[in-house]
Amino acid sequence: MKLLVVGSMAFDAIETPFGKTDKILGGAATYIGIASSVLKTDVSLVSVVGGDFPQEYFDMLKNRHVNVEGVEIIREGKSFFWSGKYHNDLNTRDTLATEVNVLSQFDPKVPGHAQEAEVLLLGNLDPAIQLSVLKKMKKRPQLVILDTMNFWMDTTWETLMKMIAQTDVITINDEEARQLSGEYSLVKAAQKISQMGPKYVIIKKGEHGALLFYEDKVFAIPALLLEDVFDPTGAGDTFAGGFAAHLAKTGDFSFENMKSAVIVGSAMASYTVEKFGTERLQEITKDDLQKRIDEFKQLTTFEVSLNAE
Ligand code: AMP
Repeated sequence: MKLLVVGSMAFDAIETPFGKTDKILGGAATYIGIASSVLKTDVSLVSVVGGDFPQEYFDMLKNRHVNVEGVEIIREGKSFFWSGKYHNDLNTRDTLATEVNVLSQFDPKVPGHAQEAEVLLLGNLDPAIQLSVLKKMKKRPQLVILDTMNFWMDTTWETLMKMIAQTDVITINDEEARQLSGEYSLVKAAQKISQMGPKYVIIKKGEHGALLFYEDKVFAIPALLLEDVFDPTGAGDTFAGGFAAHLAKTGDFSFENMKSAVIVGSAMASYTVEKFGTERLQEITKDDLQKRIDEFKQLTTFEVSLNAE
């Protein structure tokens, strides 16, 4: 199946307790595209960049067979720029700068071939833009996955509600799930969010893993225990990318396969955080990913029988 991704492509400047970068490649669609390419998924990106966006970034994506025909270049404009500084615990960060630049004029152009994508991943953007992409599809995709954040809850609640109503799978973090639902308990929060539209609710809990809710079922996974977390930027996007890519690749949207997709997304994200930006993600292969998935299995499988002789 085809995967269509809509999201930011950006320059990021990141500061963590371990170091600092100048402007490097960032953006949600970038992380998602690279993650999808590790699984060799048929993936197309829709985004907008300025004339300052280096050709080498496009070349890197093309070499990985990520289709970038839907990335508009506004020659006279500047690319979206985000800068953040992480606290010592790496779980929280301050945004130092957000220069929206060409993203403020983003009117997504979905190329013909991508209008028929079966899986649509709407990266964190203004919900009005996310909704406009849905309207541009030839028919409704079989699976619509939505990533969003508290900023849109604070500023464009009604439009966000319309978007959520059209969503099959929503991915948000625990704090955002609480804000969206007004419930502290994540079980109650997931139930309320599900009533807003999404059949599947994924709640990300950073270094504590993730939860997948579907009807009255729940699946929980821990995060892989890493020796070193270097830069968490893009972990959420990478998770969404690995998740969506696995579903598009397998074409199976059952709860059982959603569980596998959550594992794939988590394993993928565990690589992203090991180096700055997309650097580590660009190095890994499908075999590396398999190894980490096997480690996941080791970490979480056990058998206990109190009645054993
Ligand atoms: P994450 O760490 O998963 O939240 O994603 C970080 C990425 O999101 C960075 O590469 C940023 O360029 C991008 N980003 C940050 N703020 C925004 C925004 N308001 N809209 C779109 N993308 C953003």
